[in-house]
Amino acid sequence: MWTEQYADLIRSMEHTAHKLYRLRYQMSNGGNLSVRIPGEDLMIVKKTDVAFDEVSADTLIVTDFDGNVREGSGKPSKEALLHGAIYKTIPRAGAIMHCHSPYATAWAAAHDSLDFSTHHAALKFHGVVPVFDTHSYAVPKEYFPEITAFLAEHDGTNGFLLRGHGQVTLASDIRMATYLAELMEETAQISILSAAAEKSASL
Ligand SMILES: [Zn+2]
Repeated sequence: MWTEQYADLIRSMEHTAHKLYRLRYQMSNGGNLSVRIPGEDLMIVKKTDVAFDEVSADTLIVTDFDGNVREGSGKPSKEALLHGAIYKTIPRAGAIMHCHSPYATAWAAAHDSLDFSTHHAALKFHGVVPVFDTHSYAVPKEYFPEITAFLAEHDGTNGFLLRGHGQVTLASDIRMATYLAELMEETAQISILSAAAEKSASL
């Protein structure tokens, strides 16, 4: 049974998805997370129309990198194809977290990259965190090459923002990708609050 074989990966996905739901980084049934199955061209990914607090062995499936279901039943998240495109081309991606966290998304509305507002962010985000404008609620295929080429050329980049949509982080495992998602949100929040503080100091 695949759910027993990958019980540790499933547990880590359940834990991190529930955590981001509790933090209100992903409300409703959007967002997505996935992990690469080591040594295979397969990933474990959330089904479509499943909320982060509902992620469990029953709401995850195994697909190939083109979204074809290999284990479990149901349809993968609409955003699974972007995850697959990243796994195909970016070996350092072992797990991907995508959520619509409010401050990071708000920041992307008006900037072309994340400002590292804390020393911690500069330490953990090893390279530029760009904003991509993909004009849709789920990243259309025609934007995949732009995103994967950027990630391939900037091997320090472990996250990016989607204007009008949300944030994506990648790491060796889902726990680390989730830490980056939290840091992305915190960094954007501090940037926005810092701008307000600077404005009040200059009054
Ligand atoms: Zn999304």
